[in-house]
Amino acid sequence: MGKKRCTAIVLAAGSGSRMKSDVAKQYMLLRGKPLLWYALHAVEESAVIDDCILVTGVEDIMYVKDEIVERYGFRKVDRIIAGGKERYDSVYQALRVIAEDGMRVPNRDGFLFIHDGARPFLTEAILRRNYEAVERFRACVTGMPVKDTIKIADRDGFAAQTPDRSLVWQIQTPQVFEGALILEAYDRLQQKKDRLAADGIRITDDAMVVETLMGLPVKLVEGSYENIKITTPEDLLTAEAFLDRRK
Ligand code: C5P
Repeated sequence: MGKKRCTAIVLAAGSGSRMKSDVAKQYMLLRGKPLLWYALHAVEESAVIDDCILVTGVEDIMYVKDEIVERYGFRKVDRIIAGGKERYDSVYQALRVIAEDGMRVPNRDGFLFIHDGARPFLTEAILRRNYEAVERFRACVTGMPVKDTIKIADRDGFAAQTPDRSLVWQIQTPQVFEGALILEAYDRLQQKKDRLAADGIRITDDAMVVETLMGLPVKLVEGSYENIKITTPEDLLTAEAFLDRRK
């Protein structure tokens, strides 16, 4: 079987309010390069990924085009589009581009790799493991087994349950799906999102959309403990330490 076409959807539309900084976190400098550079660089260099949709805030599109995509010559970035209020709104905007054949090379039949632009340590090995898994299982997400014991709390703040640690994973990105499958899942989400919200179900990742609305099991794929998301200022220090170790 020939290789399927793979499109990365790189998400960089959040406000990053937990970063406590004037500059949106995706543009903060990490060892001299904007945080977003790192994920785009991994995509650009990858033998797995063919092209990319970059999702940013509507007011940042020109800045990202000039100062990141053109400045660093990221040729796989085919479209730069505006995201939405919630993460899943941003994903949906990118999926609409795919559904409407808005790419230079249409890719409804291939695989879509949805990745947080705030995760700089995406590697070729992680991309490859996901490609192998999505070929077999149609839907997969990157993650790692937790290192700490996890407790489920009750509403009063008491420990209610202790799940078996070997079965608890923390979820990262990329989250990878057959194009047609994730398009259908997000269409269903659009129809049902008010009801899900009323039921108190908050959609925080793409795998949840597929699990909840398509009833399809999602395979877990090993990422790495370095594949962190930069959320708060101390995460930047961790990221710098990881980069220094690579020198
Ligand atoms: O907010 P959180 O850390 O979960 O965001 C994960 C990723 O999703 C980040 O890369 C962020 O830029 C992106 N995001 C987005 N649109 C939103 C919210 C988050 O593209 N509305």
